[in-house]
Amino acid sequence: MAAVPGPRSSPVDARPPSLRGDHHVHSSFSDDAVSTPAENLAAAVAAGLDTIRMVDHVRLTTTYVPDFLSVVRALPPVDGLTVLTGVEAKILDASGAVDAPPEVLAALGTGHGADRVLLADHQFPGTDGPWSPRVVTQLIEDGFAPPDAVEMLVTATIRAVRRVGRAQLAHPFSLLPKIGLTEDDVPDELLDALADVAVATGTPVEVNEKWRCPGERVVARWWGAGVELVASTDAHVATDVGVYTWLSPVRSGPAPGDVDGRR
Ligand SMILES: [Zn+2]
Ligand SMILES: [Zn+2]
Repeated sequence: MAAVPGPRSSPVDARPPSLRGDHHVHSSFSDDAVSTPAENLAAAVAAGLDTIRMVDHVRLTTTYVPDFLSVVRALPPVDGLTVLTGVEAKILDASGAVDAPPEVLAALGTGHGADRVLLADHQFPGTDGPWSPRVVTQLIEDGFAPPDAVEMLVTATIRAVRRVGRAQLAHPFSLLPKIGLTEDDVPDELLDALADVAVATGTPVEVNEKWRCPGERVVARWWGAGVELVASTDAHVATDVGVYTWLSPVRSGPAPGDVDGRR
């Protein structure tokens, strides 16, 4: 492994994001999650978090975002706990188009909009729209070179970050195992290109408990490049809010109390 540039890190001490934050928590506004924003807030308090980002899935046709935001904004304030908002949307294609309603994207960061859009690699951003992992796996078997696939994925991600302006990278590289690749297939130059755009745009990047990515090499390199790394559980139920096990002993920063025995 190449040495990580800069004085802030070395390859062995991948920078731990603070485990007192959970920057990706779903509520029942997502069709695959069960807890209400109020239940997630109570779980964040019980876990001793200082930050929670409440997020739900959107598509181009989603209409519930104003309701979701008003429910979150009506939650009682909690001393010492910052509540952030977001929507999670997949990157649609190689141009970096994002599967979110245009008015939601236009309102990001305004008083009436969500704070950020979480850019997700739920599908592969193909030339003509999203490609399923099965399709990409077949394309690779038929000769689509893995380095080209990786470059397309990273380039689309960079374009999406620039297009939306206020992004957060959700579970970066969670797609790779689904298409038979790993983070080892991502060259340093592409990691650095992604780091550059994240730093230039102030885009936080998740280290995601649910998807167990990105791994130590990527985290160390991005930390060395000055990327803002944030911890996330991608919880779909309140009992998972702020609960880190994979992230915990390997890369943990100061945790709120007894992480292992908390639940
Ligand atoms: Zn996701
Ligand atoms: Zn999610």
